[in-house]
Amino acid sequence: MPSEAAVRLNEIAGRIGLSVPVEAGVLSVDLSAVIANYRFVQTKAPAARIGAVVKADAYGLGASTIAPALAVAGCRDFFVAHLAEALELVSSLPESARLYVLNGLAPGMEGLCAEAGILPVLNTLEQARDWQAYAVAKGRKWPAVLQVDTGMSRLGLGTDELETLLRQPGFSDWVDLRVVMSHLACADIPDAPANAEQVRRFAAMAARVPEAERSLANSAAAIGMSEQAGDLVRPGLVLYGIDPISDATTELRPAITLDARVIQVRSVPVSVGVGYDHDYVTPSPRRLATLSIGYADGWPRALGGRGAVWLNGVRLPLVGRVSMDTCTADVTEISAESVQADDMVELIGQHQSVSDLATLLDTAPHAVLTALGKRFERRFTGQAH
Ligand SMILES: *Cc1c(COP(=O)(O)O)cnc(C)c1O
Repeated sequence: MPSEAAVRLNEIAGRIGLSVPVEAGVLSVDLSAVIANYRFVQTKAPAARIGAVVKADAYGLGASTIAPALAVAGCRDFFVAHLAEALELVSSLPESARLYVLNGLAPGMEGLCAEAGILPVLNTLEQARDWQAYAVAKGRKWPAVLQVDTGMSRLGLGTDELETLLRQPGFSDWVDLRVVMSHLACADIPDAPANAEQVRRFAAMAARVPEAERSLANSAAAIGMSEQAGDLVRPGLVLYGIDPISDATTELRPAITLDARVIQVRSVPVSVGVGYDHDYVTPSPRRLATLSIGYADGWPRALGGRGAVWLNGVRLPLVGRVSMDTCTADVTEISAESVQADDMVELIGQHQSVSDLATLLDTAPHAVLTALGKRFERRFTGQAH
């Protein structure tokens, strides 16, 4: 239990606007850039609506700010993975917005989903039957999205299941299929033969539901195969200025920066071990900066001894292991006056993009972004307009 005095001090700190620098770093999102990227996708697919994928809290960046900013820019379709994510966004979006739950209709959630006006993506025959049964029970036709599996073997109805559904008595009387969607396995490899095969299957399956709109493209497909945009495009990554296919376009505006605080600078002589297990031993006298960010913040342990941060355009290599709450950068190359405790160094920004980190870590940019933890101050800049 904190003492009464401690509670009072905390209150006073809040009242006088004293900001307590507990944050591991500052994650900034430029909303003007997000909107510019949204508009760029629209230029690639002028005939389609752009539905923003804001699942996983808008890839960890803050869906409750980003989704309304996109709504101000005209976006009306929003995709999340879970019903809980959709419910969180309902009140911050205009009434005309549509929220879709990609992971489908969880058992028993029909009422909550329907009454909140959220559209489930029906991924299985069971989900389709449950949705129909709910509509019958309420005596009213209810809208939904149908996902078909065209070759990713992840979610959605196969060809035979689709036929079963279309023969199901009363289905089209009670379920208003607004959109038929599928997802590409290899959209980030534009000339992969699997893409053409999935496009062909999607055309055939979607033709069985002619009244529904078509949705196939994620970010990579919106940029690299924009002729497959259909009626509703589903970009996530590109909204944040990250190119899903390396160098596919130069027209995206970077939207994210991440800076971490220097919490201590020290000079160490030659042959001194640094960090856990002394993975790194100084080869000569070095100056080291301890940064207030570690793997608990989603700054991957795999960057130890490989990654770098930047200060004033100078690359500062990370040495030794990344700890839970700290990591160490070698700052010998810059003058002692130029780097001191409380300075901020760049982790993501002008010199190091999310894609650069993903390449270095041999992972997807999505994984780099969504790993970034909760201990950052999130700062939104730029105007939503
Ligand atoms: C996550 C997701 C997207 C968005 O993917 P990006 O690569 O971020 O554009 C689109 N469609 C579905 C079905 C998804 O799961």
